[in-house]
Amino acid sequence: MIDADVNAAVYETRPQRVITGAGAARRVLPAEIERLGGSRVMLIATEHELPVARGLVAGLGVVAEFTGVRPHVPVEVAEAARALARTSRADVLLSVGGGSTTGTAKAVALTARLPIVAVPTTYAGSEATDVWGLTEDSRKTNGVDPAVLPATVVYDPELTVTLPPALSTSSGLNALAHCVDSLWGPTASPPATAFAVEGIRQLATGLPAVLADGGDVAARERCQQGTYLAAAAFAAAGSGMHHKICHVLGGAYNLEHAAMHAVVLPHVVGFNAPAAPGAANRIAGALAGAGFGDGDGDDALTALLGLYAALGAPTSLGDLGLAAEQVPEAAALALEKIPPSNPRPVTEADLADLIGRAQAGRRPVLVPLA
Ligand code: NAD
Repeated sequence: MIDADVNAAVYETRPQRVITGAGAARRVLPAEIERLGGSRVMLIATEHELPVARGLVAGLGVVAEFTGVRPHVPVEVAEAARALARTSRADVLLSVGGGSTTGTAKAVALTARLPIVAVPTTYAGSEATDVWGLTEDSRKTNGVDPAVLPATVVYDPELTVTLPPALSTSSGLNALAHCVDSLWGPTASPPATAFAVEGIRQLATGLPAVLADGGDVAARERCQQGTYLAAAAFAAAGSGMHHKICHVLGGAYNLEHAAMHAVVLPHVVGFNAPAAPGAANRIAGALAGAGFGDGDGDDALTALLGLYAALGAPTSLGDLGLAAEQVPEAAALALEKIPPSNPRPVTEADLADLIGRAQAGRRPVLVPLA
């Protein structure tokens, strides 16, 4: 246990097997399932990803397929997936898809304690965290449980070449947001920071190349490496201001997860950077490594906006469905969640201003210290 008065950083990891490589999924899944002692596989995928998923599981002993995946894992979806796992007597869960699919597998693992093999097809990063999320009555509940961390992750960049440009961008910036928030998360630590900085560099290098050519498997692989680094850093450092705001917005207003995270990120950087020069320097340095800005911490936001411009990133929560009238309520809800460890004190007025700018699609600004 750490004495609260002692200035100590804790870095805690959990065991997980991570396999990467073009074409890896088809090659390694049988052995990986066997390694976990599984013989009765429950496959979880959306209808959209099902044909790809089925192509990976020939001869794997699939006893059930669950395709009722929905964003933010509504409780009724979790219950339906859990019932199928029970009645099919599955002994291992195989998820093939984005964060919503991984999240559905986690909801089953939370109660059934079955191991998960995750094959991610977006850059959400849920596969590398022990965080689960469920939504009920427009409120999102999160928790941490080692049982929901996938035992094995297979990053196969070939499965991501079908991600359309807009989703590649927003999902990749969601991963970038994991990196940035890890720099000031409640349990930030030097190892998590190292992962985060390299994650920023990989993503900021890989995403423009993916946008130029969605079939560039090497660039896709770079983005997946950044995704893993981002999520591992985030799992260790905990949710910072950015993710707490997005958690509230996602649960209460059902905004599209990845795009919402992308829109909010530069506004949070603009707010926190003046009070967190170390983090600002690291963000700027990593972005400069990818060709955005000259590495000066004072220009971290400008460099980030340079990346956003290159990617044609989304800029407005209004476009995603948040009404201007909802901003005051969103600010009040978010205030309850901001971690006390945030580098800068946050008031409801600060949040109303930040979320209001993001809602209206106004340019993110550096908010000077009083
Ligand atoms: P998603 O899983 O909802 O997928 C978005 C869309 O992309 C879907 O329509 C899906 O069918 C499609 N898609 C997925 N892979 C594709 C591919 N390769 N080609 C073409 N289309 C593809 O969205 P997401 O952004 O991946 O995940 C968001 C969810 O993940 C949220 O619910 C969020 O809360 C959760 N999440 C959880 C954690 C965690 O640590 N628990 C971390 C990140 C995200």
